[in-house]
Amino acid sequence: MVFKGGVNLFDAYKIRFCNIVEEISSDNPPEVFNFTLPSEQSVKHIIVTLCPTEPWALPNWVTLGHKTTVFFDKIKELQTTIFPEAKCSVVITNNETEHISAAKEYAAMNEWLEVFVIDAKYPYDDPVVLSKAILNKDINFGQDTLSQGILVFDAQTALAIHKSRILNKSVNSRFIALSGTGLKENEFIKVQLGTTLEKILKNRVKETAPYRVFINGPLRGMEVNDFAQKIGWTVNDIVVLAAQDKKEMFPMINTDRLHFTTNLLGELRACVYCNFCDDICPVNLEPALYHQAYNRGEKQKVRSYDIEKCIECGLCSFACPSKIELLRIIKECKSPDVQKA
Ligand code: SF4
Ligand code: SF4
Repeated sequence: MVFKGGVNLFDAYKIRFCNIVEEISSDNPPEVFNFTLPSEQSVKHIIVTLCPTEPWALPNWVTLGHKTTVFFDKIKELQTTIFPEAKCSVVITNNETEHISAAKEYAAMNEWLEVFVIDAKYPYDDPVVLSKAILNKDINFGQDTLSQGILVFDAQTALAIHKSRILNKSVNSRFIALSGTGLKENEFIKVQLGTTLEKILKNRVKETAPYRVFINGPLRGMEVNDFAQKIGWTVNDIVVLAAQDKKEMFPMINTDRLHFTTNLLGELRACVYCNFCDDICPVNLEPALYHQAYNRGEKQKVRSYDIEKCIECGLCSFACPSKIELLRIIKECKSPDVQKA
């Protein structure tokens, strides 16, 4: 896989969070964090990601505070107790200067630990991209990194594993980031596992306009329509976008204003052959071509264009001035139903 580009979304899409962290409790007994640890033999390398590249994702300071060394002590306990043979890499984005210097100091005294500093560009934190960049391993999107002996987890998951496996204490809540144009405020919240989306969004959403809700971001997350859905451990952030109901004039020349809109209400328009989607794709695919074949009803043809290499980062849809949902087309064509047709 040749990886190119990436986009600094922190520059393109600035989000200011209020520093409010509150506890939202589930109406039922909370669910408990349960991480099935793979066998010691199957894990050759641990990658701990301190590298969120999306501005709406939970930042490290919420999870770690300023206690980077305490965090590494816990990683060390995990490594020595559970995976003594595994090497451990910590990946940090270059905008996290405090964590970088603490990590490097720690690694200088611990040979099992390596520190990698990467550009704060999306989607450099994708496990497929990290496995290639750090270990030179080619992994297809959707393939379990463990099949190559690589265990990848984020800071919050590392702390939860430590608490449940080393301290034998139950973990039943987690931090998530809430943001977006459809909300009254952007907040970090601590929420019990099993709490419904409905309860979280109650009194937080601007009720004046239609909105769309995305779990784990509008780029590579999942849009949710069923608000009875419960928050599980894999929910890092919730983004609520106000639906836009008017088209912009000449969107293809407003490249400095690429921003998140939704194409529910009136934004969708014809492809203008600008090739922004091809240029931005980090794995050199050609989404514009897929869109053309899809429009002709040739889903099998789309499949023949290497779409399994797509890491589903969503950058093509983000960059498209016509707001064509290119990632949705790719996912649909990748699906087993199309394979069978
Ligand atoms: S989602 Fe789009 S930009 Fe991202 S890898 Fe797939 S085709 Fe490329
Ligand atoms: S699909 Fe969108 S980004 Fe790609 S060429 Fe067409 S208008 Fe441009």
